[in-house]
Amino acid sequence: MAMRDPVILALVFVFGAVFGSFINVLIYRIPRKMSLLKPPSTCPNCLTKIRYYDNIPILSFIILKGRCRHCRTKISSRYPMVELSAGLLAVLAIFVFGVTPKGGIAVFLTFIFIAVFFIDLEFTIIPDVFTLPGTVLGFCLSFIPGGFVSWKQSLIGLIVGGGVFLLVGLLGEFIFKKEALGFGDVKFAAMLGAFLGWQNLLLILVLASFLGSIVGITMIYLSGRKDKSSYIPFGPFLTISAWLAIYTGDIIIMAYRRFIGL
Ligand SMILES: [Zn+2]
Repeated sequence: MAMRDPVILALVFVFGAVFGSFINVLIYRIPRKMSLLKPPSTCPNCLTKIRYYDNIPILSFIILKGRCRHCRTKISSRYPMVELSAGLLAVLAIFVFGVTPKGGIAVFLTFIFIAVFFIDLEFTIIPDVFTLPGTVLGFCLSFIPGGFVSWKQSLIGLIVGGGVFLLVGLLGEFIFKKEALGFGDVKFAAMLGAFLGWQNLLLILVLASFLGSIVGITMIYLSGRKDKSSYIPFGPFLTISAWLAIYTGDIIIMAYRRFIGL
């Protein structure tokens, strides 16, 4: 199952980094409602077209010392970070699951998670272009043997994902008198349920709430209780938790079942 061939893993890294370049395009253009195909990439400051030799994942950023070749404006370090993490995390997925349906799904989800993480962090939205086709795709892929879930687990997952999150969201709105959980989160949860099943989804919800509370409390503490109303998007915590669930979900669910004696 697991893939240890260094040549294949190196190729996976290059593929991941190149795809990471495309993820950067998604992160920049989808929230701005721009076309993904044209115009070609330009410097956001001087609008000079970026040549192919300045568009090599990770390397170009290092060679150009993080600045535009023409106007010397600083390029966000998010660009190489996204490319590097897409490369490394794709390698991890194939290293653990091999070139299998599980490996492919893990790589695909990892790429989606990176995009959602940064888009929600900056714009506090999780675009429907990911979650709606994603939910359908997750359910369709569950019919392929050797994936993470059976089609029944996937179907229950997407219903629980949509339902439970909608309930939590409405309850939060009722208690806190403001939107606690966006509908983007609800749709994203449905997609996660479709891909990973309802058991993983509950694990993800618990993990994400835990992470979110820690970060939220830390931020309130650091800001000296000045802006308690500051909104922290939930999506980044969902993506981290879902990514963790891909690798540890089976073990944790099994341990939990043993714990409650099922
Ligand atoms: Zn420039």
